[in-house]
Order: sequence, then C-alpha cells, then structure tokens
Amino acid sequence: MKENWSDSDAEEFANHLHQRTEELYNIPDAEPDDEGLIECSAFIMQDMVIFPRMISPVFILPGPNMVAVLDAQANDETMIAMFLQNPDAEVPTLEDFLPIGVEIAVGRLLSLSDGKSSALIQGRRRVEIVEIVQEDPYLRVRARPIYESIEINREIDALMRTSRDLFEKCVQLDRSLPDEAHIYSLNIPEPGWLADMIATAISFPLKERQTLLLLADPKERLKRLNWLLAQELDVLQLEDEIQSKVQNEVDRSQREFYLREQMKAIQTELGEGDIWMRDIAELRERIEKAGLPEEARKVAEKEVERLAQMPSMAPEVGIIRTYVEWILELPWHQQTEDNLDVEHAAKVLDHYHFGLKDAKDRILEYIAVRSLQPKRLRQPILCFSGPPGTGKTSLGRSIAEALGRNFVRVSLGGVRDEAEIRGHRRTYIGALPGRILQTMRRAGTINPLFMLDEIDKLGADFRGDPAAALLEVLDPEQNHAFSDHYLEIPYDLSKVMFITTANSLASIPPALLDRMEVIEFPGYIEEEKVEIAKRFLIPRQIEESGLQDKEVVFRDAAIRRIIREYTYEAGVRNLEREIGRMCRKVARLKSQKKRYPSQLTPHLVEKFLGPPQFFVSEAERQDEVGVATAMAWTETGGEIMPVEVLIMEGKGNLQITGQVGDIMQESAQAALSYLKAHCSDFDLDPSVFEGLDIHIHVPEGAVPKDGPSAGITIATALASAFTERKVYREVGMTGEITLRGRVLPIGGVREKILAAHRAGLKTVILPEKNKKDLVDVPKKVLSDLKIVFVTHIDEVFRVALHPSSDNPVQPRWKAKKEEKNEEEEE
Ligand code: ADP
Repeated sequence: MKENWSDSDAEEFANHLHQRTEELYNIPDAEPDDEGLIECSAFIMQDMVIFPRMISPVFILPGPNMVAVLDAQANDETMIAMFLQNPDAEVPTLEDFLPIGVEIAVGRLLSLSDGKSSALIQGRRRVEIVEIVQEDPYLRVRARPIYESIEINREIDALMRTSRDLFEKCVQLDRSLPDEAHIYSLNIPEPGWLADMIATAISFPLKERQTLLLLADPKERLKRLNWLLAQELDVLQLEDEIQSKVQNEVDRSQREFYLREQMKAIQTELGEGDIWMRDIAELRERIEKAGLPEEARKVAEKEVERLAQMPSMAPEVGIIRTYVEWILELPWHQQTEDNLDVEHAAKVLDHYHFGLKDAKDRILEYIAVRSLQPKRLRQPILCFSGPPGTGKTSLGRSIAEALGRNFVRVSLGGVRDEAEIRGHRRTYIGALPGRILQTMRRAGTINPLFMLDEIDKLGADFRGDPAAALLEVLDPEQNHAFSDHYLEIPYDLSKVMFITTANSLASIPPALLDRMEVIEFPGYIEEEKVEIAKRFLIPRQIEESGLQDKEVVFRDAAIRRIIREYTYEAGVRNLEREIGRMCRKVARLKSQKKRYPSQLTPHLVEKFLGPPQFFVSEAERQDEVGVATAMAWTETGGEIMPVEVLIMEGKGNLQITGQVGDIMQESAQAALSYLKAHCSDFDLDPSVFEGLDIHIHVPEGAVPKDGPSAGITIATALASAFTERKVYREVGMTGEITLRGRVLPIGGVREKILAAHRAGLKTVILPEKNKKDLVDVPKKVLSDLKIVFVTHIDEVFRVALHPSSDNPVQPRWKAKKEEKNEEEEE
C-alpha cells in the first residue's frame, strides 16, 4: 500500500479506471432471439441492487458467480443480475428471485486477498426473468428485456421536477452526498433513468431499492421515489433541527446531552417513547400494589416521577431504577407465622443433630419464653461459639425450620468497612445497600432467622467501625429503624431473630459481646464423631454421591481410622469431606460397572484416601530432654504443641521464637527466674546459668501464640534442659506460673483436654483451680485420661520429669563448661 500519492500515481489510477469503464461499455448487449428473449448467465446478488446505467463495484467470492463471470468474459457476453429475495434458499428456484433482474456488463476481475475478487459492473436494462435453462455449474436464464417509455408528459415532468427538488435538498443536508450529484441529476433527460440514478445515490434500505427496481413504469417509479425522498428529507431535517438547536449550547461537556436529545427524538419518531412510558406506568402500579410503608412509598413515588421526566437512555435512569427496585424488593411486611410448639422444636432439633444438649436446651427455653410472652421485645441475641464444623450453622438452620422462619446467613469475616454493613450513599458509583439489607432481601420476610457468621472476625479501620453499625443492627432499642446509607429509609429489623457465631470470644468487641448470650459448641470427642458420622454424615454423603441407602456400610473401625489419621479437628467438617470422598470413589466404581465394596474397612480407607495425614502418635515419640508438651487453646479447638529448649554458650540471652507474643515471653522470663532462684532444689550450681544463651522455641504451624498458659510447660522444658532429666512425652500440661512457682488457673480447659485426648496423651496436668471446669468434659474422656491437679510447679516437675538424669549424652555446653572450670582450677 502506498502512503503518499504523487500526481503521476493519481493520473495512472484515473487512466486505469477510465480504461476499466471503457471496457465495460465495449461489451455488447445480448441479442434477443425470435421470441424476443435473451439468454444469459446469472449473477446472483443478495444484499444489493444495481440499477440500469449505474456503475458499481462488487465483490465476487469463489463459487458459481465467479465461474459464471469468467465464462461470460471469455465470450464477451453480458450477464443478468438476479436478486435473491429469499437468502435462505439452498438451491434457489425461480420463486426465490425478484421477477425482475438487470442485464449487466461485468468488467475485468481484480484479485484481492483470500480468493476474493472485485469488479466493476454496469447495469444495462431491466429484464423480466422467464425461465431457468441451466442450473449447473451456474444458473443461466432466459429473460425478456423491458423497454421503458421515455415520453415526458406534464405529469411526468412535474414528477421529475419534484424529484430533483427533493434530491437537491437532501444533497444539501446529507453530508455523505457530493454536491455534484444534484447537477448530474439535472442533466438526466429520461424519467426512469432519473429515478434510478437518485435511487442509487441515496442509501435507501434494501427493500425500498428492490421495490423501485420492480416498478417498470417510470411514472410509478418516480411517484414512489418522491415519497421516499420526502421521508428521507424529514429525517434529515429533524436531524438538522436537533443539530442546530443544540449546536449553540454544545461544548465538549455537553456532547452527551446532545446525543441523548437526538436519541430521544429518534425514539419518539420510532414510537419507542411509548415503551418507556409503559415501563414507568408499570413501576407506578407496582409501587401502588406493594403496600409499602408510608415513607417508603413516598420516596419511591418521588423517584419514579423523576424517572418519568428523563429520556429512557439517560445515565441516571439505571441508578434510579435500581433504587426503586430495591425498595420494591425488600420485604416490608411479609412475615411467617412462628411455630412456638416446644415439643415440635425439640423433635426437629434432635432429628438433625446428635448431642449438643446444652445448646438445644437453651434454644428450647428460648422458644418456651417466646410462647408465653409473644409480645416480649427484648430477646437476647444468641451467640454460638466454638471451633469450625461443630454444627453452629446447621443448628441455626434447624432452629429456623423448627420455628417455621426463613433462614439466611451472612459472613462478617474480613468486614472492615462500615459501609459493608450499612451500604454506600447513592452518590457513589455502583452503590448498593449493605450486607444486612441485601440479606433481608434474600430472606423475603421481615422475620427471618438471621445468622451473622464470624462476628469475631470483624475488623475496623479508617473507613469507620463496622462493629458500631452492627450494634445498631442488634440493639432492640434502635433496630426497629435501622438506617442504611443507600436506602435512606428507616428499615425495621426488630422482628428478625439474630444468631451470631464465633470461633473465639476473645476478639469480639466487648460492647457487642455484652448484648449476646453465649452458647458454647465445644467440639466432639471420637465417640461422638463416630455417632454423628453414622447417623448423619454417612447417610447424607451416600445419598449425595448417588448411591442407594445401605448399599455401602462403613465399619466402625474405618470411621475411627478416618477420624484419627485423616482429620485433625474439633468439629466434623473434614470428617464429612473424607467420608464424601470415600462414597464418591465407590460411586465411580459402580458407575463404571466395576466391582465395588459394600463394606468399607480401615484398609479400604487407606486405599481410597491415600496415606494417612495425621498420626495419633504424638505421645508415642520418645521422651527427650528439653521438650515438654503444652496444651493450647486455638480458634479451631484445642491443640497440643511441643515447647523446646536449647542451651548453648553465649552471653546470657534468653531468646524465644515461633511467633510468640509478649505475654508468653514474660511467662518464659518468669519460669527462668524461678528456676534460677531454686536451682539448689535440682542440684544445680547457680553458675551453670552464666555464659549461656537459652533458646526457647514453640513450633507447630507458624500460628501466632500468646497467653500465659504455657508457663509451666516452659518451666518444665527449661528444668529438663538444665538437669538433663527427660520429660514424659505423654504428659500434657497447661497453667500459668508466678515468680514464686505457684500455678494459676487458665481458660479453655475443655478444648485443651479434648485435644490431649485426641492426640492420645495419657496424663494431663492442670491447675488446681481449674477443677470446676471438668464438669464440661465428657465422662468418656475423663475415664481415658489421668488428670493431675497442681498448685505448685514442683508438683509439675514431679509428674512430668523422669526421676533422675539417666541421659548418657553429655550436653555440649556442659562439657565445655567443665573443661573451662578445669582450666581455671589448674
Ligand atoms: P459450623 O457452623 O460450626 O462451622 P456446620 O454447622 O457447618 O459447622 O457443621 C458442619 C457439618 O457437620 C454440617 O454438615 C453439620 O450438619 C454436621 N454436624 C455438626 N455437628 C453435628 C451434630 N451434632 N449432629 C449432626 N451433624 C452435625
């Protein structure tokens, strides 16, 4: 492609074009036979029309047209353009074409890319198609040339003038038409030719062009043309009017407005304005029928009035509509009837859940109170607290079922912005109501059971405090008129029954915690898990994997193996997942028509789930010097973790690692100080502490750890490291230590004991003051464990440390020290 045309290039091109038209003119018209018919190859046109005497470029694709053109050119023949009126016809018959075609001359082919070619064609005269005489490899037809009248009477003269006038006006208004076009029209002496020329110049729709082609009578053709021109002129004038009306005000920022006006005008022209008005009327009707509260109705009506003033394409339309839809779709009075039958509720809860006695009792009480005092406003907000997978959510769902309320939940995890609770003001692009109202819309009633999950994971940052917004949601004094920034209409949340869930109470903002009544979901012991698996998880997973009830049976030992070696959790979520995986493996075998087991054994567990991922054998590792086992409380339930102490030569530094917080550091200091102060109790020389660095490490999972409850464990590991007495690995311990060696109570006893039990420890050391907490621990666990209560660290050492130094290995620090002492003595 050339970028710049020189004068000689232009000249060459003009010559070339001239040559090509010249060639076109040189092709003779077809000679009619005795019957007055001509026979030519057809050139099929789908989406254009060529009029007699007009020249137009066409594209020709490889195919019948191409072959026909090549043959016609070889014989110096004209062709007949036939216009397909049914483009879907596969093998077109006579009926698929307009009855009138145009005899044309086709000029030389110019090859373009991908096999396409272009050529100039020139229309010669209208012909009436008579018959198809050949179909393959292209159509040939016989046709009767139409000789049109060129007589000009007064009527035709008038018509021709009108055409030229209208055409002139169009040329003036339509910038795509060259000014010369009008001059050209003045020089055309024949009525039919004039009509054809104008029809070619103005881009009428294809259908109109075809109609003009079909009108063989020049008078009729001119009449139709004038009618079309008048219409065209109307639109052009309208466009022009809008243009000039708006022109003065248009600067760059108003371009949008201009386009909108144009759109509006066009819509009105096309009758689409009516659709818009119908939309508005429909909205008005919906508002009327929705039975909205007074305030909401007023706002909605006002917004719809605003809408009615706008063209349907205005950018605000979407925003206002969404807003009105929100008002319409929120539940304002739809309500379910509470079923306050306590016995029924008890049945439903038992039907879906094993155990959880405390939680169920508390809920039944709640329902009982409601049934006695239905009008009572102040209902405590329940907070279900416990590790994941312990049934908090699913119990919530069952409560909703028991009460006959709709159930919805929303997670607050990671919500840091007040706007997520309360929504963004409508002035923000893409603003929406906050999560509370979004969830209410989903609920569809004003009294659903609404679960607020992970209330302990609520954050706060510069964008405002979501907890404060949540307080308003939960506070019965305020929540009958909850304000959402987006909605801007008070919304009544007072009939909602809120239940919150949390993994840890420690991180719930105190103001929120104050309003809630906590129900603990402690986590399950193995026996409970086996029961839950057998009664609920297995039947559900069997069904979900498409197997028949009882088609496969999990042996107890298999369930236990999954619990012990494939899951490590306080709840049953992973257990359910692994059971599901087992079921799907069986289902797959079954669907492949292979043999599949009906009894799932511990052996098959390993075959299906791969090698075990956890070992119960924490306690089976060897007893060692400098490593003691702590029992810790975490959000996912309890956990046991080793505390390691290493002593090396140095400057007397105490280093503690493993993502450990300040409180734990202090408790390590306290333990060390105690040990230094009482070294004689352990037959240690005070000098052993000099010139040494102590490194305490709390490994396990790089999770942040803090709190004082590892105090006695650290002390034990330290004592072990200095005295070289090994620590019993199967002893787990927890308790805070004071400088004087007293052991103080700690929290999370139940979770910690469950974790020790899960890990297979044999003995658990607890502060004496925690004795009362044992009531919460399942009997089975207590009977499996030996629990030792202590008030002083000495008692811990007695239970946890091997009696004397039976370690044959001399620690390096000690050997070095002794060498040094000897040198000094010499
Ligand atoms: P959470 O909300 O505490 O994280 P879920 O309610 O999601 O836990 O419970 C996880 C799965 O375990 C659910 O399928 C639930 O039905 C099941 N599940 C938990 N506890 C029990 C139970 N006591 N009885 C029956 N199924 C239970």
